[in-house]
Formats: sequence, structure tokens, C-alpha cells
Amino acid sequence: MKFADLGLAEPFFRAVKELGYEVATPIQAQAIPSILAGCDLIGCAQTGTGKTAAFTLPMLDRLVQSTPKRDTNTAQPEQQESTVERPNRPERRRNRHGATPKPRTIRGLVLAPTRELAAQIGASLNRYGKHTALRNAIIYGGVSQVPQVKALRHGVDVLVATPGRLLDLVNQGYVELKHVQVLVFDEADQMLDMGFLPDLKRIERLVPRERQTLMFSATMPEPIRQIANEWLHNPVSVQV
Ligand code: AMP
Repeated sequence: MKFADLGLAEPFFRAVKELGYEVATPIQAQAIPSILAGCDLIGCAQTGTGKTAAFTLPMLDRLVQSTPKRDTNTAQPEQQESTVERPNRPERRRNRHGATPKPRTIRGLVLAPTRELAAQIGASLNRYGKHTALRNAIIYGGVSQVPQVKALRHGVDVLVATPGRLLDLVNQGYVELKHVQVLVFDEADQMLDMGFLPDLKRIERLVPRERQTLMFSATMPEPIRQIANEWLHNPVSVQV
């Protein structure tokens, strides 16, 4: 199927065209229209099938559609929400109308088992979201949290994270997940194999119930089916 027929908005169609993609891979052809329609989705797919574009493109598309206007004089102080809570945070800059710009909040959250995969997903978000103003950050353990906290304070629309470091930063008050609209579990089977299930359960409880949930896994063992049953709502099932 051609990318032009998948229903992606122009900035995304342009991005893939510039990358030289013409034909969608099977997982993209199956997943993108359903995700754009707002469905939950469970995808059985390995790396190399084009699964990253299969979820990042429609996720970004939906987030662009629901992006609040940030540069207006209508933002009311009581409507303002903070992406990153931090004591002694400097007062937010006012725009030329004298109103404080609406801050970014984390609306897309992608969970991945390893820093390598998180970095790859982050690179894909940059490539596919090139013609949008959406901002992403990647956080993972094993390295200093300082640059990650700095990126978060800058304002983030899409966060890619490994579960342990995400919870660390949530517990320290640097990350708030109550505005997440799209939650993605990538390589769910690997996250379970690595013992992340308790962390995933905690994270799932911090994200609003009313959201779109996407889960990708190379294999579908029983524990994955169980959490999918619990956390996904009438999911579309895609297998490649
Ligand atoms: P992934 O399975 O998401 O890791 O993607 C594997 C590789 O395929 C990545 O390098 C992508 O840039 C590339 N890719 C993804 N979708 C397409 C496509 N429709 N046409 C050509 N290359 C693609």
C-alpha cells in the first residue's frame, strides 16, 4: 500500500517521502489507519518490519491534531499545567500579549526495554516529526539524569523511556504522566523478560485510563496477553 493512501497528515507524508519511503510495510499498512482512527492496537512484529514508523507516525499525527495553541493571549493562569514539577522553578516567560504561554505536557509516552531501542525510537520521532513543532526527549538508566532532567524542563510532547529511570524521575517530581493521551509499549515481551512488569504496572496506573494504548511484541506469551487484556480496550490485532 502507498503511504499516500494511509490517511497521514501532510507533514508526515512529506517526511516519509523525503526519506524515500513509497510503499508502506505490511505492519504499517495495517496499523497506521487503525491508530489514526483512535483504536487501541496489539502488534506482533519484530524489529526490522518497520514497526517503529507504524506507531510513531500515527501517534505524532494524533498529537499534532490535539496540540493546544501555545502562542495565544487566551491562556488563563488557572488552565496552566506543568510538564515537570520542580521546586523553585523559575516563573514561566510571558508572551507578547502578556499571557503566559501554555506549557508543553507529555502527551505521548513510549516505553522500551533498553537504552538502544529508546534511542532508536527517539531518532525515528525526530525523522518522522521533522515538519512538526513537537518535541521529544529520551530517558534511560545507567547514565547521569542531569541532561535528561534538563530536557524535561525544556518541555516535552513525547517521552521515550525505559521503565526504571522513568519511575525514578516521576518519584523525584520531574515527570508528570497525567496528560498522556497515547501510551506505547514497545518490545513488551523483552520488558517482561527483563523483570519490568512491576514497574510497568506502576506506570500504567499513573497514566489516565482514557487514552490510546498500543502494544508491540515479537512474541505473545500468556503474561503479555494478560496485560493486554487488562490495559487495552477492544484492541485491533495485527500480526506480520
Ligand atoms: P524498524 O522495524 O521500525 O526498526 O524499521 C526498520 C528500518 O526500515 C528502519 O531503518 C526504517 O528507516 C526503515 N523503514 C521503515 N519503514 C519503511 C518503508 N515503508 N520503506 C522503506 N524503509 C522503511
